[in-house]
Amino acid sequence: MRVGNQIPDLNGIEERLSTLQQEMLVGIALGESLSNVMSTFCRSVEALAPGAICSVVGVDDGGRMNFIAGPSLPDHYPAALTGIRIGPNVGSCGTAIFTRKPVEVRDIEADPLWGPYTSLAIPYGLHACWSSPIMASDGRVLGAFALYFREKRGSNQVERRITAECLNVCVIAIENSEARARLNSLAFFDPLTGLGNRATLKNRLTMILQRAAELQRPVAIYHIDVAEFRAVNDLHGRIIGDMVLVKVAQLLRSFAKDCDLIVRMGGDEFLIVKSAANEEFDAEEFAQDIVHGVYGRHRLERGEEIMIDVRVGVANFPNDGRDHDDLLEHAETALSRAKRNGRGYAKFEQQMDLEKRMRRALERDIGLAIERDEFSIVFQPQVDAKSGVVGAFEALLRWNHPELGAIPPVQFIPIAEANGAIHAIGAFVLQRACEKASEWNEKLRVAVNVSAAQIVRSDFVQLVADVLSATKLEPGRLEIEVTESLFIQDLANASTTLRRLKRLGVSVAMDDFGTGYSSLSTLRAFPFDRIKVDRSFVSDMVNNSDAAAIVNSVIGLGRAMGLCVVAEGVESHEQVAMLRLIGCHEIQGYLFGKPLPAENYADIMRPRHGNRSDGRSAVV
Ligand code: C2E
Ligand code: CA
Ligand code: CA
Repeated sequence: MRVGNQIPDLNGIEERLSTLQQEMLVGIALGESLSNVMSTFCRSVEALAPGAICSVVGVDDGGRMNFIAGPSLPDHYPAALTGIRIGPNVGSCGTAIFTRKPVEVRDIEADPLWGPYTSLAIPYGLHACWSSPIMASDGRVLGAFALYFREKRGSNQVERRITAECLNVCVIAIENSEARARLNSLAFFDPLTGLGNRATLKNRLTMILQRAAELQRPVAIYHIDVAEFRAVNDLHGRIIGDMVLVKVAQLLRSFAKDCDLIVRMGGDEFLIVKSAANEEFDAEEFAQDIVHGVYGRHRLERGEEIMIDVRVGVANFPNDGRDHDDLLEHAETALSRAKRNGRGYAKFEQQMDLEKRMRRALERDIGLAIERDEFSIVFQPQVDAKSGVVGAFEALLRWNHPELGAIPPVQFIPIAEANGAIHAIGAFVLQRACEKASEWNEKLRVAVNVSAAQIVRSDFVQLVADVLSATKLEPGRLEIEVTESLFIQDLANASTTLRRLKRLGVSVAMDDFGTGYSSLSTLRAFPFDRIKVDRSFVSDMVNNSDAAAIVNSVIGLGRAMGLCVVAEGVESHEQVAMLRLIGCHEIQGYLFGKPLPAENYADIMRPRHGNRSDGRSAVV
């Protein structure tokens, strides 16, 4: 029966089909959505095959159909069809996909294949349907391409020709869209944990905040970091490291069920966004839940048991910030605080922001401080414990910031170390200190503090040699003070450099002795000339017998190794008495002299004729 069917000649069809194909490929290449491309496609097919109503359906891994396009089908079709499971008697499309063969139903009402589904079509005047499976290049069935007719009839030759061609276009379009979806999921999901990633966060957080602002509801942001994760990786390897991350992701998912968003930020960092469900929202309570929920020994996939612990930083919307960037930054700031405290979680406080801003300002300005002449050097005497004679001055750096005033070295040295400014600054201190010392009484040494970062640079020994020759300071009058941190990373390299320094004639002191954790082994690794017992022990020794015992044993050890022992931070006569008693060689501290500009010690540094030419300190 070909009632009312105008049949275009096959030659004309070929040309129009190839134009159609081209248009579709362009649409696909331009990244139009599958349903848009396919809707346009259906309309073009309908124009080529008058009397046919065209549609395309897809199928998921579970065998359920989903509606892709069918612009001329009745409005209820997409919803009615989507979710129907394919099978041997599931209309034309469900059966075609299931049997992987074309299914031609000439009379929907009468055909048993349509059974319960006739009500989808008959009331809307659809009486026949010819459906062909869309087969992927790898043999999978991707869906079905169908032509519906308003008459009870089969397909004609032209329609069959069109269908054969259209199936190819459908394969390309659907495979392309699948590939795009895979790429998309790679772009938005972390493949290891299956959680969203930074891109997801960026997309979603702004929307979550907008909605929260409309509803006037608070939102809490939890930035989570796995404690000691690097140690897990180093100790157990990356595979175990990855399993730990998967475990953490599982745990977070399990107690963050009703959260808006959980993402992996990369590395061992995660982020949870939680909107307040009601008035009594307590952001800190949930932070505690996270910490307690994760803390403990956990069994991993392969049976290993590992201790897992996390730190959490919390920032609240709208109190701690109103936009995406501020909130994330503040949650991270709070996290740094939690890490520094070595404790569960920390809530963002405005004060932390001030500290961070201050740090940023210092980071920005420290590189310019030398040329702006903001640095100066002060000197603190080291005296002989018995005679009180000054034997040396320690050079200590001072930074007078134009807006922030005097910045203590404990604050700016770590910044300079972190951003590399320490190299220029260190060279400056060395140059200035040696310059000054070259003007002093020949017996006085100058002690210069040097950061580990400076020493591990290959040109450090050369720098020292150059400064010595430029300032004409005898090498024996320069002492370099290093801390134990130098030996933690690369002991062999550090001791090689120090040995080269000693060969120049320069002496080397171990600073802050007792505060590191490998004190004895570092002492054995390198022949120091001096050890400086840290101020913390000296200040405690009068009232604390443990501290006194430590100072006592360090001094005993130093003496046994033939080293000179200096006590730092000596502030009282009682301390001096005790130190003398236990045989400390030298003493440094406010009691004998604070760190002051060289002019203040001019009398000791350059005694005028006949006046205290022995360098005896006026203080003792
Ligand atoms: P440090 O080398 O242990 O220096 C001794 C610190 O103790 C100095 O603090 C000094 O002012 C302080 N001090 C000395 N006697 C007493 C005392 O009796 N009581 C108390 N309470 N404190 C005393 P400052 O100058 O703030 O330096 C702190 C640290 O900064 C130094 O510790 C050193 O590690 C570092 N530093 C200072 N200048 C430089 C430098 O030019 N280069 C490098 N790399 N580090 C430096
Ligand atoms: Ca020092
Ligand atoms: Ca020290």
